[in-house]
Formats: sequence, structure tokens, C-alpha cells
Amino acid sequence: MGLFSKWVESLDYEFEIESSCTRHQSHYSTCEKCLTACEENAISFVNGQPVLNQSNCVQCGKCIVACPVHAIAGILPEREISQNQLVISGQHIPTSKELLIYYKKGITSIIGKDEASMQLWKKPIEEANTMLRELDERPFTLSIKSIGQEEYYSRRALFSLWKNESKSIMKQVTPSKWRFNHNVFELQKYYTGYQFTELSVDIEKCTLCTVCERLCATKCFAIQEGNFSLSLQGCSACGLCADICPEKAITLKDQIVSLEEINHPIYEKVCQSCNQTFKTLRDQDEECTPCKKLKSFN
Ligand code: SF4
Ligand code: SF4
Ligand code: SF4
Repeated sequence: MGLFSKWVESLDYEFEIESSCTRHQSHYSTCEKCLTACEENAISFVNGQPVLNQSNCVQCGKCIVACPVHAIAGILPEREISQNQLVISGQHIPTSKELLIYYKKGITSIIGKDEASMQLWKKPIEEANTMLRELDERPFTLSIKSIGQEEYYSRRALFSLWKNESKSIMKQVTPSKWRFNHNVFELQKYYTGYQFTELSVDIEKCTLCTVCERLCATKCFAIQEGNFSLSLQGCSACGLCADICPEKAITLKDQIVSLEEINHPIYEKVCQSCNQTFKTLRDQDEECTPCKKLKSFN
């Protein structure tokens, strides 16, 4: 093994949570996807922000995959690949999202050495296959096969193979922090033409305050002259817009749907109480939001 591979293997891979976490962005954020994903109680919230307890962390990488904004840095457990097939092995079970990404990297078959090992990964495989059908893709093919040690690559061997032969597929599935690009977990990038969130704005409640437009990191909202448009190709389902909207006008749910842009017309009116011009999503509005709110307090 070369010096390069030894150096890579000797790195300390402690996990850490970066400031892109939505709870760092706003104290209104209610995201707890990392907490829910961690089965080892290694994540807790202190003063509303996620904190990693390294002594409980088993580096399964589930929080990394679960975080919608890729705020958790670390490595994924090694996966074994044999002739572009994912081999069921190791104690850490992948999530369906991780499997969907391997699928787009060209790994469309999963093999296990026996029925018992297939059972271990059954749940995420079934979830991934359901999602693949919704995405108009063929499901993973599954087979039972015994793999000789010489036939698959360990992470260490993958590094060497990559270095020596530049096998691109191996590059993409070899986990390591020094080259780890969190964007690899943006499912939306792999399945263009679909959105993974169904999001709606209740036009009876929205006051066009523009908070959602300013805070959405992936620019899903555009409030322009005469039009409020929603385009969710880049939506990470972080939920920050729904948490932050002062009118509770935004609802979202995890759902695979064909990508579509939603447009709501914006009307320009003159307020009958203060005579100022104002913008609204409701053609029937006769008063601006401040006048309406003032009236409701009186
Ligand atoms: S899943 Fe990501 S964004 Fe959500 S609380 Fe955890 S670190 Fe923050
Ligand atoms: S944050 Fe809510 S009220 Fe403000 S523009 Fe967005 S949807 Fe409308
Ligand atoms: S639209 Fe909302 S849920 Fe989607 S990325 Fe933007 S802030 Fe997050």
C-alpha cells in the first residue's frame, strides 16, 4: 500500500455540525432530521441547536444522509462493490436515500450472501424501490450470491484502485472526508424533472412579506413584479420556509411529483383606509396588511 493510502486511512474522521444547519440559520427552525435518523442517541439539542456526542457516535453516517442542507461533515461507512453491484455487508445499513444515489452512480444491483443478510437491508431496499418506481426507474435487482474476498474491494483497496486506475465509479462511492462533497446527497440533482417535496402557499394567508424568498437557500421562491412563483427543483425539504413564515401560509410534505412551476398573480391595489398602494395575492383585497392588522387589534 502506498504512502498516499496510508495517509488517507490515518485521518481522524470525527463528525461535526456546520453553520449551514437550519437551526443555526434561524431559531424558528424545527428541523430534527439528524436527531430522528441517529439510532445511537449521539445527537441532542442544546439551546435549540444540534450537538454531537462523539462518544456515542458509531459513525454510521445516517445523520449525514438525513440532513437536508448537508450541514453534517464526516464520512460514510465503507460499502463493498463487486462488478458494479452493491454487496450487503458491514453493520451499518444504508438509508433509501443513499441507495437512490448509488443507483444514479450506476449501481443498480444488490447482492447478499444469504437470505438472512438480505433481510437486514430489506426495509431501505423496499423504500428505495418504491421511490424508483415513482421516479419511472426500474427497481434494484436483488440476488443471493457468495462473493469471494478477492472479488470485492474494501475501502482501502478502493483508494488504491482509484489512485492507480482512476476508475470513476469507484471514485464516486469511496467515502472519505478529505474529498467528501456533501452535495452528493442532493437527490434533486440526480433525478431532474422531479421534486421530492410538495409545497404550497395558502394565498388567503400570505402577505407577500418576502421572508421565505430571502431565507430559502435554494431560491425556490421568487416574488417579482406581478408574480409569486414557486419552483421546487432545488428544494431540500429543509422546512425552514414553513417554520419561518409569520402567517403559517406554507405547508410541505415529502412526496415525489413531477417538477412544475407554480405561479400566483400579484395585484397592485390602493388601500381604502390609508390610500397607500399595496400588493396582494387576493384580487378582492381592499385594505393593506398593516391596516387590516391594526383593525383586528382595535
Ligand atoms: S438535520 Fe441538518 S439542518 Fe436539521 S437540525 Fe440536523 S444538522 Fe441541522
Ligand atoms: S413568508 Fe409566508 S407570508 Fe411571507 S411571502 Fe412567504 S408565504 Fe407569504
Ligand atoms: S422551499 Fe422551503 S423547504 Fe424547500 S429549500 Fe427552500 S426553505 Fe427549504
